[in-house]
Amino acid sequence: MKKTEKILHLKSCRGRKLRVVREHYLRERVPCYSGLCQADCDNTGAKVLPGDLTHYVVPDVAVVLDYLEVLEFRELRGVVFTQTACQAVQHVKGRRQYNRLRNLLKDPQHDCVLFANEFQEYSYCPREKGERQEEWQTRCVYSTAVWYYNHLAGMKDVVMITEDQAAAARYGSLNAGVYVISVRDFLVNFLPELTAAHDLYAAVSQALQEKESEVAEKKEFAEHLPAEVLEAGVKSGRYVQGTLNVSKHRAHSEASVTAEGLSTKNSDLSWGVLVCGAKNRNRAVHGDVVVVELLPRGEWRGRDSALAEGPGGGGAEEKRGEDADRKPMPTGRVVGVPQRNWRDYVVTFPPREGPQAQSRNTQRLLAVPWDHRIPKIRVSTQQADALQDHRVVVRIDSWESSSLYPNGHSVRVLGRAGELETEVQTILIENGIHVPPFSDAQLRELPASSPERPWAVDAAQAAQRRDLRRSHLVFSVDPLGCEDVDDALSVRRLAGGTLLELGVHIADVTHFVAEGSLTDLEARARATTYYLADRRYDMLPAVLSADLCSLLGGVDRYAMSVVWELDAQTLAVEKVWYGRTLVRSSYQLHYELAQALLDGGAAEVPELRGLGPAERDARLAELTGALETLTRVARHLRAHRDQGGALELEGVEVRAQLDEQRNITALVPRQPLEVHETVAECMIYANHWVARKIQEAFPHQALLRRHPPPRQEFFSQLVESAAARGFTVDTRSNKALADSLDRAVDPRDPLVNRMLRIMATSAMSQAVYFSTGLQSQDQFYHYGLALDRYTHFTSPIRRYADVVVHRLLTAAIDVDEGRDPGRAVASNKDLEETTRHINNKNRASQQAQKLSTELFQCLYFKERDPQSDQRCLADAVIYSIRDNGVLVFVPEYGVKGPVYMKNREGQVVATGEGGLCEWQSGAVRRQSDHISTTSSCGTSTFRLFDHITVCVSVRSTHCHADALHLEAVSNRPHRGAEPKRPGAQGRSQLVQEVVRLAEEASQQAREKAARRPKLSREEREFSQSQTPNLYSLLEEVRELALLDLEAVSQVAAATA
Ligand SMILES: [Zn+2]
Repeated sequence: MKKTEKILHLKSCRGRKLRVVREHYLRERVPCYSGLCQADCDNTGAKVLPGDLTHYVVPDVAVVLDYLEVLEFRELRGVVFTQTACQAVQHVKGRRQYNRLRNLLKDPQHDCVLFANEFQEYSYCPREKGERQEEWQTRCVYSTAVWYYNHLAGMKDVVMITEDQAAAARYGSLNAGVYVISVRDFLVNFLPELTAAHDLYAAVSQALQEKESEVAEKKEFAEHLPAEVLEAGVKSGRYVQGTLNVSKHRAHSEASVTAEGLSTKNSDLSWGVLVCGAKNRNRAVHGDVVVVELLPRGEWRGRDSALAEGPGGGGAEEKRGEDADRKPMPTGRVVGVPQRNWRDYVVTFPPREGPQAQSRNTQRLLAVPWDHRIPKIRVSTQQADALQDHRVVVRIDSWESSSLYPNGHSVRVLGRAGELETEVQTILIENGIHVPPFSDAQLRELPASSPERPWAVDAAQAAQRRDLRRSHLVFSVDPLGCEDVDDALSVRRLAGGTLLELGVHIADVTHFVAEGSLTDLEARARATTYYLADRRYDMLPAVLSADLCSLLGGVDRYAMSVVWELDAQTLAVEKVWYGRTLVRSSYQLHYELAQALLDGGAAEVPELRGLGPAERDARLAELTGALETLTRVARHLRAHRDQGGALELEGVEVRAQLDEQRNITALVPRQPLEVHETVAECMIYANHWVARKIQEAFPHQALLRRHPPPRQEFFSQLVESAAARGFTVDTRSNKALADSLDRAVDPRDPLVNRMLRIMATSAMSQAVYFSTGLQSQDQFYHYGLALDRYTHFTSPIRRYADVVVHRLLTAAIDVDEGRDPGRAVASNKDLEETTRHINNKNRASQQAQKLSTELFQCLYFKERDPQSDQRCLADAVIYSIRDNGVLVFVPEYGVKGPVYMKNREGQVVATGEGGLCEWQSGAVRRQSDHISTTSSCGTSTFRLFDHITVCVSVRSTHCHADALHLEAVSNRPHRGAEPKRPGAQGRSQLVQEVVRLAEEASQQAREKAARRPKLSREEREFSQSQTPNLYSLLEEVRELALLDLEAVSQVAAATA
């Protein structure tokens, strides 16, 4: 090893210059990560560049800085990133861009490696006196290219790409086999087919040129303050730093800044700081980390509590200052943006008026982001005409103080706005969900299993496991048609009947998915299986989720089991055993069948077909006995949690009935079967005991799930609404809340209790995963389940948290049995990173699910004429009173939304003959539990929990998602609303209709696509990812009850 001294001239992103002297060690051996290496480099445990490429690519520093997104195309193979370039990204572009590069280097699907060129004795070149930093960096990169060529003994040509023409001229012909060319030439010569990359390159370089040529015109915004000033200001308390949240409904005018810990310093700030208007927002974009300066108290304002007209907020039409109860809150202006959190945005290029001359020239267009909270983005494009009316992914490059809008460039085209496939892709991208097909490399890691050659148990593996195949009656209970059975149960009597043994057996996913393998990395990146209204994206490949890890009936499977010995009388736990097992499920039951067995009704168990009557009866009795014992145990467990205050919230209501092909035959309201609860209770119990085990084994690095108690102030609406109906809701503890919700039942209207439970749910915090090293033990509590410790163990096929927990449990068992766990468990810090990632992905998944269901609801109503179609009329319940209208819930369609009592023209809803509503000029007056309108017709009053009739229609906005619009038709209940189970008929109709419409829409989309000229290969690829098995997975998405999206997704998150 050789020691030298290295002088670094660092320039921070704020322009500060630093001179740093470092000792620098050079080695002869630095891994090259090439499959062709003949020099015995230690390339183990890392990605290695394949040998079968025609050349390697070494991008220059400036190329990595400016064109990283072009380098991200997977078609660019054999890319060597230099340490020099990586460091430059870190210093010049900041943490986010650097993380992006690191993720690219980690991505197993991308053929690129990092070469530590500045530590390699022969590729390192010290900076010369008077040499400019850029020149020196380019020389380092070139020297790396030459080193690779020599290191691989000339077996591989090396192409350096640079935008520096002088460098290309200087180095171009210096060494045979090492080529130096521009990015454009590289793409043209080596990737002529990859038009998406060509377009992206053109767009980025266009944006760069414009940034350079942009002369400082008139200032539209104040300059941001330098980083030092911001830092000092925040420290002294003069400024406040936090994340900018733009109001969804008042995106143009209202935003707030929230930050953890704000309230502890200053109680005034516990609700955040309001930022009003574009000038005060000063080029900050939703999600950015900003620093705000508070305005004098006299200029503080309040949040607007009126309903904003129109989907997504009314912008200019916004009414202000009408209502009296807006309390002024701290208000400020943005003085700096320490961190931009720009992501990929889906935008729409609005249709342009009049015939356009076909133009080949670059045009600058204002594109409208799909997300209302993001400002319009100015995009330069040569495809202005082709892009019209299309949804396109763009990235923001800059936002100068002289410009009203940020500048950006287009990345790829999704398709025509309004088409189903385009809209679904939009939802995925807007939520940061990336679900490419599983790669061949990943699939090669997994065992093969086919009907001809099914996978078989390995004898050595079997010897290490507790074999339950003969000793235990194992069975599963799932929804009808379920393919991925990740849990099974067993129960039996021991010790002459004095003990009960209860077993929960979970698919042993981590046996097949090794930590750090490609499958593991992909599963971690996804973090969950994504369920949309019409499709799902699995976390694991089907060979695992539907076969090897599915505890199907009659086949041998590996499992992770928790087995309790309970006192047969008191059901107290005597002993718990955790470990790897070998199971063979005897019965694959579905809920209705299991319940029928329990109820003693006629039930045919498919597994018993063909047996003689005596044997069949004996086995039926054995199975029924097991189910009965299980029910008794579950009742006991549930009662125990109820005493602790477990909450029964607004839960599952609809259930999809599947046929053998997993198609939906009907969507029926869920029969509240006790067996659902029995199975759920056993899973909760297993999760709880595993949480205890891993927390005790690894007190500072176990992954648990906690559900924080809600903030009391969030309950005010619930308490007030309940009071309006004469109920007292006590929210001081989960027990008090659960009890008082149970009492708040109006015998005349069951919806009242349901609405109150929905309100209670929306007041809840979300349950989250966390690392035990980060919280004190009193924070571990799960409020919804009333358990001191909880985690997720029972669904490793579709949740990555469970995969992590399985590994922790394995390590804990190894420690118990004195084995070396082989691999150290993740540190608290790493685990915290993992939990943050999984929590984010779960939120994204819920949001995508909700949006896709709304998309389908809109598709359903879009085709109907609200004037004539009776299905557009529905019963609605008022659950909240606002300044200019009410919020209602439409049980039949599971829709929640505003109904205006006053419109933009100042007219109000007046009720005349028979309760029919019409618009009249008049006034509106809001009280705590009702709202009244006065007009020439007299006074009309709408009270909380009143049933009214609404008309449902769709408001199309072209640039954004369509939205449902509700209008009051009558202040009486809907006549068609005969007393039936909540929405039996309507909902299954809705689903069938939407299925039909969606199929038609996708057919039309295909036809349209065939008719119009192709924009790019990307677009074709994006239009192909459809698997139209509509609604076939609704039962698995229990949370996707069409009834109440927000509440239900929160319940799922809170209580699951
Ligand atoms: Zn090597």
